[in-house]
Amino acid sequence: MFLAGSERLAAEKPQWRELVGRVDGELATMRKGAEIDPAILARIMKVDPFDLENVLRALAGDESDLSERQRVVCPSCRTPNDADRYAKQLAGEGESRCTGCDEPLPSGLPRSTVFVLEVDPPPAPEPPRGNVPI
Ligand SMILES: [Zn+2]
Repeated sequence: MFLAGSERLAAEKPQWRELVGRVDGELATMRKGAEIDPAILARIMKVDPFDLENVLRALAGDESDLSERQRVVCPSCRTPNDADRYAKQLAGEGESRCTGCDEPLPSGLPRSTVFVLEVDPPPAPEPPRGNVPI
């Protein structure tokens, strides 16, 4: 599998093996820094969002390959903003602006969990030799 943590998780929790394998395959197609919303990925993969979030959380827990972050979504432009920065700015300066559109973010925005891929995906397979146009 792509992530070392996936191998370990699949070995520890045989009931998750198939889902872990599928999640690992999805992660292998993403770029470093990609933000994974478990609800959206669950819809794409047609799996239970709670199971998926548990798998992602377990992968984020013991490896630095994936990290768990909290986001608040800007109601104007839908840009996800860092929830800790938002809370700190609201408490300190009384205002937090969206990093996407620079509008002030209203207080009381709900937090959502995302998982961020922290490693580069595996290299693409070598192109087949022979038949290469010169
Ligand atoms: Zn915005």
